[in-house]
Amino acid sequence: MRPARALIDLQALRHNYRLAREVSGAKALAVIKADAYGHGAVRCAQALAGEADGFAVACIEEALQLRAASIAAPILLLEGFFEADELALIEQHNLWCVVHSLWQLEAIERAALRTPLTVWLKLDSGMHRVGLHPDDYQAAYRRLLASGKVAKIVLMSHFARADELDCPRSVEQLALFEQARQGLVAEVSLRNSPAVLGWPQVPSDWVRPGIMLYGATPFEQAQALAAQLKPVMSLESTVISVRELPAGEPVGYGARFMTERPTRVGVVAMGYADGYPRHAPSGTPVLIDGQPSRLIGRVSMDMLTVDLSELPAAGLGSRVELWGKTLLASDVAAHAGTIPYQLFCNLRRVPLLYSEG
Ligand SMILES: *Cc1c(COP(=O)(O)O)cnc(C)c1O
Repeated sequence: MRPARALIDLQALRHNYRLAREVSGAKALAVIKADAYGHGAVRCAQALAGEADGFAVACIEEALQLRAASIAAPILLLEGFFEADELALIEQHNLWCVVHSLWQLEAIERAALRTPLTVWLKLDSGMHRVGLHPDDYQAAYRRLLASGKVAKIVLMSHFARADELDCPRSVEQLALFEQARQGLVAEVSLRNSPAVLGWPQVPSDWVRPGIMLYGATPFEQAQALAAQLKPVMSLESTVISVRELPAGEPVGYGARFMTERPTRVGVVAMGYADGYPRHAPSGTPVLIDGQPSRLIGRVSMDMLTVDLSELPAAGLGSRVELWGKTLLASDVAAHAGTIPYQLFCNLRRVPLLYSEG
């Protein structure tokens, strides 16, 4: 059996979820869109089912997968529906629904619903992706209530720069939100992971932690609360071949790495088809039997190469951690010019092996 695998520590997932709730003092929707950022949405939802206040996903397909697995907790569709005919399924499966555009509001007004919906009414407070214009917000709220199709409305918005702790933009977005919701008596939800960890002053009835659940920091700099997160995923494989090269020999496609001295090269069963970033340059950290080493040469589809020269005890069968509890995905991401979100979401082909920790 190919040794590449991702170990998923569900105890760590629960620890991170509890941390989100504790530090915010709010109810928390566990954001498990995109197959729980590559960690497996059904298993992660089951692991949190006893305690999560609810879940959030990107689309009804993801929500139905959870309902099919008997997840009964509230599930929020973060972009609402994409076509009005999804409303029948939203009602049938008792899903919560973001309304971010006037066309969605109109579709709800026209829909034949027997049970009133829970709607999260989204304001564009400056992210400028989705959300109602501040000038339309109060009228949309009143129309939803007047439609008779809605039982409850939560007021929400989304930060663009909450991961930049000294950037004033989040405060500006908050001020705009406060102005737009003046006089409305309803619960609010603004905070994603960086805002849960870094912006305690933001009011929250509900928080929406995503990346922090998986134990990765959303910040580029060290941050005290983020340091309490426990990484959930360990991406592992083993050394499947070793060769001793003299100085001046190329390694891998395009001869992107040339040995500068006699070098022991380890070949690891992990490649970009598993989601390991092809753009990771030579020097990207890896752990071999727990010891720090580095990637050398180009990442290929099924294999990558590491430097074993400083690790005489390492060899065939040595355990390789590409990221995990010791080597953080955020460090690998920084070397590869990406973010841990993308490393996790890109994961494929490798089996996910779950443990309770
Ligand atoms: C994905 C998403 C989140 C979670 O963001 P993280 O940065 O992973 O915590 C929260 N809210 C919305 C609207 C999202 O789309």
